[in-house]
Amino acid sequence: MSTPYMPQGQHPAVWVTEGLPGPLLAALVRRGGIPHDVRTLVLDQLGRRSAGDLRLRAERRWFQRYSNLTGPEIADRADRLAYELLAPSGCEVALCEDGWLLDDSGSCRCRPSRSVVDTTGSEGTGRPRSSPEFVTEVVAALRAERRRVHGMPRGARSGHVVKQPRPYQPAPPVLREPEPERDNPAAGQAERVQREERDREAQHLAEQRTKADRAARANHEGENQ
Ligand SMILES: [Zn+2]
Repeated sequence: MSTPYMPQGQHPAVWVTEGLPGPLLAALVRRGGIPHDVRTLVLDQLGRRSAGDLRLRAERRWFQRYSNLTGPEIADRADRLAYELLAPSGCEVALCEDGWLLDDSGSCRCRPSRSVVDTTGSEGTGRPRSSPEFVTEVVAALRAERRRVHGMPRGARSGHVVKQPRPYQPAPPVLREPEPERDNPAAGQAERVQREERDREAQHLAEQRTKADRAARANHEGENQ
């Protein structure tokens, strides 16, 4: 399971919003932080779901619906996306989580009969395919694999959904000199710039989180008086 434990003393709402996908979180920070309606939504949802459930909900929906968006698309829709990742599914069955029942008893009556998620190629968890848990495990496995291969955190270049797959081309029959950069000689440079930008973003994000965390704690203490 990919969900880390919530640090002691951290407000669950802060922990939930911190778990939003990296590119989205970065876009939100650039717009001034987590929108008020999203905070309100999370606090409301924490009355019906655990913080871990909400993190899984956001992660699952991101993977299923939005992970192929480009950086500019994410930036344009950041507030809305954050809300949609965390909003209740709208089903009146209390245990229903996007069509699956949280007590593992199967699919909800609101669920269309056709399967939404294609998880072909993964196996062996013993869980029903395309259950929220299964999808989450697949996401975690994909992420771990990407880290192993690319050695970098999920970022703007996150590309586990290929937007424009190139047609398969067999290798040429003759050996040829390796090309330093495939299409674009400036790609190496661009990548370096992107990496630096990401580092700056991460630094900024960490500062924002500390601030948000402190504010939430102050808030929390305020509520308890
Ligand atoms: Zn339902």
